[in-house]
Amino acid sequence: MSKVKYYYDSDTLAYRKIERKTGKTLLRVLRFLFAASLFALLFVFIAGRYIDSPEEKALRRELSNMQLQYNVLNKKMNEAEAVLANVEKRDNNIYRVYFEANPIPEEQRLAGFGGVNRYKKLEGYDNSKLIKNTSQRLDQLQKRIVVQSKSLDEIKIMAEDKEKLLAAIPAIQPVSNEELTRMASGYGYRSDPFTKVRKFHYGMDFTAPRGTPIYASGDGIVERADNKSSGYGNHIRIDHGYGYVSLYAHLYKYNIRKNQRVKRGDLIGFVGSTGRSEAPHLHYEVFKDGERINPINFYYGSLSAEEFNSMLESATLENESLD
Ligand SMILES: [Zn+2]
Repeated sequence: MSKVKYYYDSDTLAYRKIERKTGKTLLRVLRFLFAASLFALLFVFIAGRYIDSPEEKALRRELSNMQLQYNVLNKKMNEAEAVLANVEKRDNNIYRVYFEANPIPEEQRLAGFGGVNRYKKLEGYDNSKLIKNTSQRLDQLQKRIVVQSKSLDEIKIMAEDKEKLLAAIPAIQPVSNEELTRMASGYGYRSDPFTKVRKFHYGMDFTAPRGTPIYASGDGIVERADNKSSGYGNHIRIDHGYGYVSLYAHLYKYNIRKNQRVKRGDLIGFVGSTGRSEAPHLHYEVFKDGERINPINFYYGSLSAEEFNSMLESATLENESLD
């Protein structure tokens, strides 16, 4: 039961009942509700600004974790960049120099990063700078790795070429030391055994008994194996490529044929005294680009320092050659 309210009427000197009007009451209720909801809205608005909801808290945590991870990634990239920079430096200053290739300039290693803004889609966020910077560094790292890998491919090819070149150079003595009677005569002015006139001897003479094996001094193809070159008698010419040719003269017998491919150390013939020769010996010549050069400069790989010195001594002695 609702309370009945009275008021004192001073005119009639009596208490009178307060009559309530339904319309007025409703208006009051509505006013209250309006004020309450306004207050609630204001509260939610203010609270929303300063107090996070559980989801917001979770998102914020995730975001700060991501920032942390990005920073960790950046630190790791520092290390990767430092290692790569070191490899690039060695590549330019050692490997490429060794194989006579030009170093790759810095601009070329980093090329392709100007012009178009490829990171536009990353712009406009609070962390844009961090994300853009990280992507950029990673892209550069990737590009540098590709350039470095290509450089190593190139070096591999050059190394194989160099290996072929080293195998081709006429670098060993064509008669083994055990079979050698003596190194009779070297490259330089010598007295001709037939005319006794002083003339230039363009090869080295190795004295050895008839039938002593002769070995190819480098990889190559037999260019000639005949006696159609005056003075040399039965002789062999091996084309080693890269401008090198070696010649073996006064042979007793051949062990190869024309156009045959030979390897360094292959038995190609036997010592004799055919052609313009005074006694059984091997006359050996080395050509580079058509010019005859001193073969003694090529034995560095196959002789000991002592052997080389004694060979040098007898080879420089101006004596009579065997031709
Ligand atoms: Zn000679």
